[in-house]
Amino acid sequence: MNMAYHSGPAGTCAASNLWLMQAADFEAKVQSFFATLDLGETRGIARARAYRSALAQAGLSGLSYPTELGGQGLDPEYERRFSAIAKDSVPGEAAMLGIGLGMALPTIATYGSPELQRRFIPPGLRGDEVWCQLFSEPGAGSDLAGLTCRAERDGDQWIVTGQKVWTSGAHHADLGILIARTDADRPKHRGVTMFVIEMNQPGVQVRPLVQMTGVAEFNEVFLDQAEIPADWVVGEVNGGWALAVALLAHERTTLGKGTKTDDKAKSKAGRSPLPYEGLAALAKAKGRTNDPLVRQSLAAIYTHELIIPALRAREIHPSVGKLWRTRQGRLAAQLAHELGGPNAVAWETTDTEADYWAYHVLNCRGMSLGGGTDEIQRNTIGERVLGLPREPGPPRDTPFRELPRN
Ligand SMILES: Cc1cc2nc3c(=O)[nH]c(=O)nc-3n(C[C@H](O)[C@H](O)[C@H](O)COP(=O)(O)OP(=O)(O)OC[C@H]3O[C@@H](n4cnc5c(N)ncnc54)[C@H](O)[C@@H]3O)c2cc1C
Repeated sequence: MNMAYHSGPAGTCAASNLWLMQAADFEAKVQSFFATLDLGETRGIARARAYRSALAQAGLSGLSYPTELGGQGLDPEYERRFSAIAKDSVPGEAAMLGIGLGMALPTIATYGSPELQRRFIPPGLRGDEVWCQLFSEPGAGSDLAGLTCRAERDGDQWIVTGQKVWTSGAHHADLGILIARTDADRPKHRGVTMFVIEMNQPGVQVRPLVQMTGVAEFNEVFLDQAEIPADWVVGEVNGGWALAVALLAHERTTLGKGTKTDDKAKSKAGRSPLPYEGLAALAKAKGRTNDPLVRQSLAAIYTHELIIPALRAREIHPSVGKLWRTRQGRLAAQLAHELGGPNAVAWETTDTEADYWAYHVLNCRGMSLGGGTDEIQRNTIGERVLGLPREPGPPRDTPFRELPRN
C-alpha cells in the first residue's frame, strides 16, 4: 500500500477530513501488519531483529524519521497511533533493540553529522545493526561525568583505552555509543566526547555478567587500544556531556513510557513492569481473588497503569516517568512474589511459567538502577524541575585532573 501522508490536521475542514482518512488507512495498515506478523520460532535477539525487519518491509519503521534516512517521514502523531495499536502485540524481545532505536539513533539524528546520520540511522531502523551503551564505569555510575576511559587522537583515528561495566546487550551488539575523556585538563563535564565504536574489533573484549535472574543481560567491556575512525565523533570534541544528558533523557523517557511486558509470549526479555491482566489471572489461578490484600494490590497496579499515560500526556520530565516505572515494577513484582510463593525465587528453569514470574520478581530491583538510580532521578527532579540548589561539590570549573578520586 503506497500512501502519501499529510503531516497533521490542517486548518480547513476538507484538509482535516483528508488527514483523518489517511490516519484511518494508516491504522488499518498497522492492524493488518500485526494480524499477519509471523516471527516463526525465533528467540532472543534474532526475534528482535526479525520484528524490525518485518516492520521495515511493511513500511512501518522509523515513522517520524525522514524518508532519506530510511524512515516514513510522518508526523509524530502517527507514532502515538502506532503505539496505541501495537501495545499488546510487540514482542517483548523488541526491547533488546531499545538502546539503538530509543537512545543512540535519536541522539545521532539531533547532533550527528549528516554523514553519521546516513551511515547509522537506516541500518539501525531495520534492526541490521544492534547497539549498546558504553557509559557506566566501575568508578563512574551516578557520577557519570567522573569517567576515566580515555580517547586520544592518533592520525585519522581515535585510540580508546578503559573499562566500561553494566553494558546491556554488549554481547550481541555491533556498535556502541561511547563517552570517553578527551581532555583531562578541562573541567570534568567539559572534557568528554561522544563516539560511535565498532564492537567487533580486537581492542574490545566483552565479558558477560550473570545476574540473579540467572540470565547474563549485561557485561564488562574492556577497551584496549580500540580504534575509532576520526569522523565517528557525535557532535563536538569535548562537547559530549550535553549529548550524554540528552541520550539519558531519551533513555528515561523510553523506560518511563508505561509500556507493559508482553504477557502473551511470557518472554524473559525487556524490563517493563508486569501487567495488571497477567497478575489478575495469576491471582485467579491461585484462588486468591477474594483476599483483600491481593485485591488492594491489584487495584493499585491497575490504577497506576492508568495514571502513567495521563501523566505522559502532560509531557512530564523524563525522571518522573522513570520513577513511576520502577515503583510500578516493584509493586507488580511484590504481588507476583506473594502469589507465586517459593516458586518466585527458587524454581525449575524447565517450568516456563514459574521461570517467567521468577525472572520478573528478581529483575525488578535492577530496574531501579539502570538508566540512573531512583535517588538520582529525585535529585534531578529537585534541581531541574523544582529549582532547588545543586548538590554541594567541588567548583565546576576545576580541571578533571585535579579532582579527588577514589
Ligand atoms: C539492569 C541494568 C542495566 C544497565 N545497563 C547499562 C548500560 O547498558 N550501559 C551503561 O552504561 N550502564 C548501564 N547500567 C548502569 C547504571 O546506569 C548504573 O548502575 C547506575 O547509574 C548507578 O551507578 P552505580 O551502579 O555505579 O552505583 P553508584 O553510583 O555507586 O550508586 C550507589 C548508591 O549510591 C546512591 N547515590 C550515588 N550518588 C548519589 C547522590 N549524588 N545522591 C543520592 N544518592 C546517590 C545511588 O542511588 C545508589 O543507591 C545498567 C544497570 C542496570 C542495573
